[in-house]
Amino acid sequence: MAKISEYLGGSAVDNVKKAIVAAKSVSKYNSLLELCEERALDLAAKVDAGEIKGRLAGVPFVAKDNFLTFGSKTTAASHFLENFEAPLQATAIEKLEAEGAICIGKSNLDAFAHGGSTENSAFGPTLNAADETRVAGGSSGGSAVATALGVVPFALGTDTGGSIRQPASFNGVVGVKPTYGMVSRYGVVAMASSTDTIGCFASCAEDAELVMDIIAGHDDLDMTTLPDYFDPTTLDMPKRVGIIKEFMSDDVDEDVRNATRTYATKLEASGFTVSEVSLPMLKYTLAMYYIIVPAEISSNLARYDGVRYGVRAETNDLNELYGKSRDQGFEAENKRRIMIGSYVLSSGFFDAYYLKAQKARTLLINEFNKAFEDYDILMGPVSPTPAFKLGANSSDPMKMYLADIMTVGASLAGLPAISVPAGVSADSLPIGVQLIGQRRSDALLLAVAKSQEGK
Ligand code: GLN
Repeated sequence: MAKISEYLGGSAVDNVKKAIVAAKSVSKYNSLLELCEERALDLAAKVDAGEIKGRLAGVPFVAKDNFLTFGSKTTAASHFLENFEAPLQATAIEKLEAEGAICIGKSNLDAFAHGGSTENSAFGPTLNAADETRVAGGSSGGSAVATALGVVPFALGTDTGGSIRQPASFNGVVGVKPTYGMVSRYGVVAMASSTDTIGCFASCAEDAELVMDIIAGHDDLDMTTLPDYFDPTTLDMPKRVGIIKEFMSDDVDEDVRNATRTYATKLEASGFTVSEVSLPMLKYTLAMYYIIVPAEISSNLARYDGVRYGVRAETNDLNELYGKSRDQGFEAENKRRIMIGSYVLSSGFFDAYYLKAQKARTLLINEFNKAFEDYDILMGPVSPTPAFKLGANSSDPMKMYLADIMTVGASLAGLPAISVPAGVSADSLPIGVQLIGQRRSDALLLAVAKSQEGK
């Protein structure tokens, strides 16, 4: 893996060339869908000429292919947007470029970010960085693997229900899902607007902190953004850590539980108090998530109608144009979610499903708030198992959804949560531990992770 500091001060053109060679040498992992060589080298020349300066001057990175960027297509790993060239750039990309960082490529994902393995990509799965027979995790699998393989020192991803934390855990890198509203989502393909967040992958917490500091903050182009709360400089180190009881049951892989306990022991040795906390509402979070998120997906994906973007079926009949374009452009998982979402929002079922799920979500938020009266940080595993085998869950959506049980809670409550490497399983697969904080405690979570690195 590579650190940001290794790239600072050198030649930006050399950095970009090196990253592109590295990307090509690991192409069998399918972590990147496209390289933006020409634009990256242009920007690098500007950095070397002193025209662009900043905290990430000449540092290469990759962005998940649901970020709108210049210099490449933006496909969301779907056939629908296979040839889509963005007319604008995402705010997060603009902010990074303003600090001299250079996007060298676009990374693979589950199409429209629907999934947890990157197997739903229209362009083939990404392979796990530690074991090529296993999934990369997802949906931001390509970004996690490119970081883990050292192609780039950091990568951007999106996390709606675990899509940064879970692949970070599966590939042994740090993954940050910020507080809802912390980072502008302008110019990022929408999935579920009430839980979509933007964050990053890096080899260490310090690098992740720098990237988050740059991309966080209010944006007039995203009305859900908060004022600038990300401030790593004024922190009171928290002391009280709660291990989430519901995430440590016998159903969870033993190596995963042991890695969590070992991390807790390290925290105790550093002066934290660790005790068990129960949040009974967590067992309903998958049910809530897989009602609320498809509902929002069915609404957000209505814009892909064959008229405005991407695939356009050949027909003169408008209804047929909508139907055929959507049939040709969307992957099976996209269609499944659109159908579930339309169903739970339909007039006969709205109260029974969508409304009830939203009420349960409020109870979950209340329960988290209550837990944070006694604890500064909650912790647990990221995923019930290390990376599973390619194909193991892909024909069974329920099995795939169940793997999200530990990440969707923080998403529904809008809380910041990070995944930090916490050792490996008996068969050498990376395992991550999850730290969840109160809203706007993003910088604090990273400070805790930093304090434990190398211990
Ligand atoms: N695996 C989850 C899902 O399929 C999370 C996806 C995401 O965060 N984009 O919905």
